[in-house]
Amino acid sequence: MSLTLETIISLAKRRGFVFQSSEVYGGLNGCWDFGPLGVELLRNIKEQWWRAMTLRDDIEGLDAAILMHPRTWEASGHVEQFADPMIDNRTSKARYRADTLIEEFIERLRAKGKHEQADLLDQRLRTAQTADDYYAIIIEAQIPDPVSGTRDWTPVRYFNLMFKTYVGPVEDSSNIVYLRPETAQGIFVNFKNVLDSSRRKLPFGIAQIGKAFRNEINTKYFLYRTREFEQMEMQYFIRPGTESEYFDYWREQRFQWFLSLGMREEMLRLKPHDKLAHYATAAVDIEFKFPFGWGEIEGIHSRTDYDLRRHQEYSGKRFEYTDPFTGEKFIPYVIETSVGATRSLMAFLCGAYAEEEAPTADGKTEVRTVLRFHPLLAPVKIAVLPLVNKEGMPERAEAIYRDLQRRWKTQYDDSGAIGRRYRRQDEIGTPYCVTIDGQTLQDGTVTVRDRDSMLQQRLPADRLIEYFSEVLSS
Ligand code: ATP
Repeated sequence: MSLTLETIISLAKRRGFVFQSSEVYGGLNGCWDFGPLGVELLRNIKEQWWRAMTLRDDIEGLDAAILMHPRTWEASGHVEQFADPMIDNRTSKARYRADTLIEEFIERLRAKGKHEQADLLDQRLRTAQTADDYYAIIIEAQIPDPVSGTRDWTPVRYFNLMFKTYVGPVEDSSNIVYLRPETAQGIFVNFKNVLDSSRRKLPFGIAQIGKAFRNEINTKYFLYRTREFEQMEMQYFIRPGTESEYFDYWREQRFQWFLSLGMREEMLRLKPHDKLAHYATAAVDIEFKFPFGWGEIEGIHSRTDYDLRRHQEYSGKRFEYTDPFTGEKFIPYVIETSVGATRSLMAFLCGAYAEEEAPTADGKTEVRTVLRFHPLLAPVKIAVLPLVNKEGMPERAEAIYRDLQRRWKTQYDDSGAIGRRYRRQDEIGTPYCVTIDGQTLQDGTVTVRDRDSMLQQRLPADRLIEYFSEVLSS
């Protein structure tokens, strides 16, 4: 089975994971809403990340405001440099990110077997830095517009991705603020506050989950590139000289985190960056194999003391750390782990999707769709199903449902044939179904069906809490 993006988008909508933002008005490009199941899945992902980060000795949490002093973004380099090269085609009026236009052309060359030409262009793309560099590549390689087929291009211009707005009633340049394009700067500017208030010693980290906004030129691939999204970032502050040790450590930790939540290893890969920022000593992406190809879900970066030093320079405040043993003063180095919560939700959704043959009640087979979410991520953990709506079964099922629901997200479903109800739960990734049947009324046992193996076992109803506490906790 080869999974398409359309299949995922349509399942996500049909079952209430993700809806287009303000759909009734035709939608807003690059924005999505999380429905009843999507919001549970997203919260579970964030919860697992938060636990992995903060249930340890050396990391504190933070929740900084989205709006920050505009100087923050001058210090971070975003005002000057957080821009993508953009080009328009005059015939089709289509707008592209110049680097993406070239990348996609290279892909098409490779698909046609023109590897030599593709390699040459790839080489040039890697070293391109200015608008003129990108323009020269597009013109010299005679790249056509994928929509109109013409080469009637405007010059390449840089376009800043930060959303601008104003604080207060006056729309004046002195009142400009930006919606943060990343959560990291909230951590950097609070470095001293956290250090002093928590009396931390190096190495230690600060973790944060929150919304970020980027006015992307081309939003695409569903939740992959959106204009509003959520990030989970952690900055780990260390002594200079230990960066390579901690970079390796965090790369490993983060890769394992995805595996521990059920992602299959063949769907993940580590991709070191070809081009490093001038201040960085190492950078690697964790990539996931999406239906459209490999794409970054997390970046791990060794950023030296660049960010804290810049804030020291721009704010005039000291960002130094004093070693409590030696009295030595220095600006800590940083290892950053930065993952999209919403982009990784899409990866977890795609990674969990399977279609397979399953037996029906009358001995035939049918194709079932199943989301094999890890139990910790599954939006609904248990479904309670009375076999029939009579003979005391609904009352018994309802009592069991109420009991389970106090602890776990549980659904009650009594409509339709039992096989159909199992399929509905499989399709949203519910790991367990509890069925109440005739025997329940006689001996107090129920069947517990496992989503993946489809095997059923009988358990005493009064042991369900104990059983689920075990199987749903890891
Ligand atoms: P890309 O090259 O894909 O634009 P980036 O290298 O700019 O990503 P970072 O700034 O390192 O990304 O952001 C860290 C993480 O935030 C990414 O790995 C991704 O998961 C998420 N992210 C970044 N931009 C977006 C976006 N527009 N939509 C959804 N998630 C995003």
